[in-house]
Amino acid sequence: MILLPETTPDLHLSTDIFGDKAKALLQKYYGYTEFRPGQLEVIEHVLEGNDGLVIMPTGGGKSICYQIPALIFEGLTIVVSPLIALMQDQVSSLISIGIEAAALNSHSSADEIRDINSRIQDKTLKLLYVSPERINSPGFRSFLKTIDLSFVAVDESHCVSIWGNDFRPDYVQLGSLREELPHIPFLALTATADLATQEDIANQLRLKSSKLFLSSFERKNITMKVAQGLDRLGQIVRFVKANPGSGIVYCLSKKSTEQVAEGLSKRNIKALYYHAGMSAEERRIVQQKFISDEVEIICATIAFGMGIDKSNIRWVIHYNLPKNIEGFYQEIGRSGRDGLPSKSLLFFSYNDYNVLSDFIQKSEAGEDFKRVQEEKLDRMLEFANAQGCRTNVILNYFGEFRDKNCGHCDNCLDPPKSFDGTKITQMALSAVVRSGEKLTIQLLIDVLRGSHKKEIVDAGFDQIKTFGVGREHTEFQWRDFIVQMIHKGYLRIDFVNQSVLRQTPLSEGVLFGQTKVQLVHFSDRAKEEKPVKVVSKRNELEEKVFEKLKSWRLEMARSEGVPPYIIFNDNTLKALATERPIFLFELEDITGIGEVKLKKYGEELIEVINSTLDPKEHKSVKQGLTYLETKKLLQSGKSPDEVAAIRNLGLSTIYSHIGYLYEKNEFDKIFDLVTHDEVERVHKSASKLGEFVKTSPIYEDLNEEISYEKIRLALSVIKKDF
Ligand SMILES: [Zn+2]
Repeated sequence: MILLPETTPDLHLSTDIFGDKAKALLQKYYGYTEFRPGQLEVIEHVLEGNDGLVIMPTGGGKSICYQIPALIFEGLTIVVSPLIALMQDQVSSLISIGIEAAALNSHSSADEIRDINSRIQDKTLKLLYVSPERINSPGFRSFLKTIDLSFVAVDESHCVSIWGNDFRPDYVQLGSLREELPHIPFLALTATADLATQEDIANQLRLKSSKLFLSSFERKNITMKVAQGLDRLGQIVRFVKANPGSGIVYCLSKKSTEQVAEGLSKRNIKALYYHAGMSAEERRIVQQKFISDEVEIICATIAFGMGIDKSNIRWVIHYNLPKNIEGFYQEIGRSGRDGLPSKSLLFFSYNDYNVLSDFIQKSEAGEDFKRVQEEKLDRMLEFANAQGCRTNVILNYFGEFRDKNCGHCDNCLDPPKSFDGTKITQMALSAVVRSGEKLTIQLLIDVLRGSHKKEIVDAGFDQIKTFGVGREHTEFQWRDFIVQMIHKGYLRIDFVNQSVLRQTPLSEGVLFGQTKVQLVHFSDRAKEEKPVKVVSKRNELEEKVFEKLKSWRLEMARSEGVPPYIIFNDNTLKALATERPIFLFELEDITGIGEVKLKKYGEELIEVINSTLDPKEHKSVKQGLTYLETKKLLQSGKSPDEVAAIRNLGLSTIYSHIGYLYEKNEFDKIFDLVTHDEVERVHKSASKLGEFVKTSPIYEDLNEEISYEKIRLALSVIKKDF
């Protein structure tokens, strides 16, 4: 896929300089000190004028890959994005960190368009998000040729391929755009593309000198678990109690979103539903409540969450089996975007599989399309039934071949135990045969466990010889065992005839004892999560500060009319709660606080944190607060002497506070207390003596003409400014 560049724009900078520049911008705007794996390589590749395809999982920092080049390129960067909500979110985010960005789509008013146009002309606009429909309009195409365009990024680029799972015909025309702009680098990005889709994207978009950047798809902070869906609502209630925070329950039907939300509400768990049957306004309100943390749980069809960049979603539950692995992985990827631990719970039943398979067969689509969809559904089923590492199933599916265990899926955390299941399989097969192949999975379990349900008695199944022979195993366990038997080919489901179980050519070998069957025991499947919450004293304080910061953020978000995560994400608030900075300069080291946000929110953050702290609790807090106290008094116009008197501290202590505050950019009126001339003299003396710490040798060297206090201040000036 790597071709030589056809034309390389005349750029006079070397890659190293790009790297430094990119890093400086990352710190300045985004407040991050390091790039995430893979980002810098993409940025440099683009800045050298090449095309590329970036496959990076959700939350991997995809947008930085085109936003940083956009800041470095002189002209405009166009970002093609299919979802208006996502566009608006990105634009708000960029504006909040001080980057000039705008969106152009079907909702843009004439005034907005005029404004965008003039910002393009005077070259103040750096990034313009455009919908595919808009960019394909002939008017816009010719407009593009008249402006100083530097770079085009195509986000969600899997939409260009019918192999992807959100095909958008408008995307296909972007290939011709690429040819119309031969000297502009194009970067395609997506979070989801299997091997076939990856190749198709590069072909459809006619990428040149293209390189594939494939980041690991592994989402290490998401723990995946699959459970048989028996009492799903009860399972969800227990899960939610054990896992507080924001979450989404994805359901297959509109009706079940409503039922689950209602069921949770009845159990005093606040939840709302969301589906396509609601009006746009109703949906907007639900989404808004979720984004603003007003409601933490939404039961929704898969359309929900697509344009949402909410970073603190802690879990995703799939009430039903998803249609394919792409969809599943995209949906669980909506959790944990802040990098904090998150969970995925998938309920699985064969019934869901049948319903989905039916959908596909009855759809109007062509046979080829149906075949692909069936194949994808089967891979999903295999994932649900996997006995090994689930992450590996996903990674291998996306072409990232790996066989080492992930350590964050149920099968890795509690590996199923293999045992001789011949007798168990014989019991099941015998019941199937003796019933005349009339049992569904549920009825077979009922027969084996000796249930006297009316259905069983009426059909005379309680007279079968194997009735009640499997009482020692729970319903959960039997379901697991039977599913395994199906997978090993000893039983099959007759989907055409009420999904009854039937024998297969392999059944006989087991029944007659010629075949040994190995089954596994999923010991953890039935085990429920227990709410565990041990809070240490230290965590208690952290928790207190975090909660305070969260309510401050919510207030800010409301007053600015943006989602809370645009102000700061949870990760930044967590870091603030752990570090509990007392001074502005300390905020620079907190991840996610760049220059603009430091200036805008810094003072308030410090205020919120300090108001929560008790100086008795921590020595460094005490120390920090004493500096802060001095600073406040100085700012209110008190002289060092007055501060010393008010605080009942020595004058030299106050001067050392002043020196420290000056060094840390917390106090700038130092030259009211020491002159430039005095600083110069101290500097000369210190250089001569080689003494930049102690005051007394300098004091003597200068014939006692400059006081100890002034020397102390002069040394701080030298330390910081020389
Ligand atoms: Zn694993």
